Amino acid sequence: MENPGGPPLALILFGPPGSGKGTQAKLLKKCLEVPHISTGDMLREHVDSDDDLGREVRNGMEAGLLVSDELVNRLVVERLKRPDAANGFILDGYPRTLQQAAFLSNLLDSKGVRPVVVHLLVDYNRIISRLSGRLQCPVCGTVYNLSTKPPKVDNKCDNEGATLVSRPDDSPDVVRHRLEEYDVQTRPLLEYFSKSGNAFYPVKGSGIPPQAIAEQICGLVMQKQ
Ligand code: ADP
Repeated sequence: MENPGGPPLALILFGPPGSGKGTQAKLLKKCLEVPHISTGDMLREHVDSDDDLGREVRNGMEAGLLVSDELVNRLVVERLKRPDAANGFILDGYPRTLQQAAFLSNLLDSKGVRPVVVHLLVDYNRIISRLSGRLQCPVCGTVYNLSTKPPKVDNKCDNEGATLVSRPDDSPDVVRHRLEEYDVQTRPLLEYFSKSGNAFYPVKGSGIPPQAIAEQICGLVMQKQ
């Protein structure tokens, strides 16, 4: 992520479940040429491979609860050591608590990386409809929605032809818990970010195509920070 004359940037995509953080991160990594780091994806990989960490977090994730700060912070520290993160990165789903935000702030300071926060604004009703009809390709990660972006062939990925899957935590009861976790644990970060003096951009996360939203964010991030 070029920031001429300035430090590497960490783009923090912030917003409730269903606000489009994952979709935007996938589009933005092409425009910004930096990796997409999703704590949710990393945790799901552990759950899918059924290793110790996966077994530790599975029940909480399936119930829509946050996993421990200590564990998530550790995953992020390890991921940021990889060379592809040296010139900046996109964080999706992290930080999600005040403790994580304070931890990240120290970590970025120590690496000389500057945070830029983008807050995706999407209203509550749209979030519910997005999450309830969501399907994803297990191969390329493309996200579909039965009402707003259905696949061309029922239940098959347009790119891969793979059978689409839904996330176990997208059932209505679990979605409710995820939104409660957001309200109680994550929303307070807005005040934290606004006091921190970091670059902070609210961006409308619905009403225009995802590609147009990504172009807008890319423009904001590429302007001199
Ligand atoms: P969404 O933003 O749509 O809820 P994610 O894929 O970001 O989806 O997260 C899925 C689940 O993974 C969360 O409900 C939580 O259990 C866990 N998780 C992801 N990121 C974090 C984090 N930073 N802190 C704690 N738990 C997390």
